[in-house]
Amino acid sequence: MDFAVSEKMQVIIAMMKEFVEKELIPLEPEFLIKEFRELLPELEEKRRIVKQMELWAPNHPKEYGGMGLDLIEHGLVSEVLGRSPLGHYVFGCQAPDAGNIEILHKYGTEAQKAQYLAPLVEGKIRSCFSMTEVDMPGSNPVMMDTTAIKDGEDYVINGQKWYSTGADGSAFAIVMAVTNPGEAPHLRASMIIVPTGTPGFNLVRNISVMGHTGSDYFSHAEILYQSCRVPQKNLLGPEGWGFVIAQERLGPGRIHHCMRWIGICQRSLELMCRRAAQRVIAMDGKTLATRQIIQAWVAESAAEIQAARLMTLHAAWKIENLGAKEARDDISLIKFYVADVLQKVIDRALQVHGGLGMTDDTIIAFFYRHERAARIYDGADEVHKMSVAKRIMRQEGGMR
Ligand SMILES: Cc1cc2nc3c(=O)[nH]c(=O)nc-3n(C[C@H](O)[C@H](O)[C@H](O)COP(=O)(O)OP(=O)(O)OC[C@H]3O[C@@H](n4cnc5c(N)ncnc54)[C@H](O)[C@@H]3O)c2cc1C
Repeated sequence: MDFAVSEKMQVIIAMMKEFVEKELIPLEPEFLIKEFRELLPELEEKRRIVKQMELWAPNHPKEYGGMGLDLIEHGLVSEVLGRSPLGHYVFGCQAPDAGNIEILHKYGTEAQKAQYLAPLVEGKIRSCFSMTEVDMPGSNPVMMDTTAIKDGEDYVINGQKWYSTGADGSAFAIVMAVTNPGEAPHLRASMIIVPTGTPGFNLVRNISVMGHTGSDYFSHAEILYQSCRVPQKNLLGPEGWGFVIAQERLGPGRIHHCMRWIGICQRSLELMCRRAAQRVIAMDGKTLATRQIIQAWVAESAAEIQAARLMTLHAAWKIENLGAKEARDDISLIKFYVADVLQKVIDRALQVHGGLGMTDDTIIAFFYRHERAARIYDGADEVHKMSVAKRIMRQEGGMR
């Protein structure tokens, strides 16, 4: 195993880091008080510069205009872009488009690729992923109510979804719906492309999440599919393969998320250190940085970030070299471990900032609110812990 960073990647990462520091972090005060939609013209201009610098769509296929980086390389990119909430969006590798691009690239027909994949990689359109349902447990998504029933040349979709991230302003959704109710639970559902302008695609609301309703890319929608009719040629991959494809999509996606979280941790740690060094807390002029409890937080955070980073790079290496199936325990381990490190580091950074940490005068309160979800989406902590523990105990002969 060799995690040495190639010269090519060192140059790319340095360029990206400089861009994030100089062009994106200065936009954050505006981002924190304005609707995301209001920022679109400014962000479009940043995207234009990123394209000119040939840093656009780092992990997407070269033939569609991306940089074609592999999983470990993109992990390193995700880390540096994660330092700002605007990073992934401005460089054209934001979730859920990134995952949808992978699905379209692997399972899309030539016609689907021309219509949806090409403009998606170019950043001309956005998409969403519509799987989780209001009344069914997302942690066990085979329990799915949404149906897609064949009628003539079409599928007719009915169901109620929520948390379709970025649906507001998307051109299409990839919808999970039961097409084969008679099959085994994991072979009942399919992925179907649904253009958001289709009659019966009803965006009910952008959900208020941690006090923020959001708009456009920074939002999560509830969607009611009511007799929503799309041609059968909108099916992605074989019928009944929805969960097979979802599993494939989630492995690499978790590497991207974990490395993004590590970028957030590093930025939070830097802010914590800076504040501790500046904040005078005693008449003798001593700062917070002189206090052992703060020093312990800094050291613990640095150790945890390092552990999280190495675990994630190792999981990425395993996916690339041995395949996602062999790496599934490693993927589960990083999913809950890195999410936990993220919470702890952000919390310490906020605590060190005192009242200032609670305001939106720094990015920390945004991280605190927004990244709480890390322990829930892409598999809640408990689900990952349970599945890893079961396999470990089975290997040790302890499970009956
Ligand atoms: C910010 C955000 C963005 C999201 N984006 C998307 C998206 O783009 N598309 C999409 O389809 N979905 C999205 N989701 C939904 C997400 O995937 C689900 O919320 C997640 O899968 C959990 O499902 P649930 O909310 O129904 O919780 P439930 O399944 O009801 O679980 C609730 C809690 O129960 C516990 N639990 C569950 N199962 C077990 C178990 N077996 N053992 C012990 N404890 C258990 C866990 O603590 C879990 O948090 C998003 C969610 C969030 C918060």
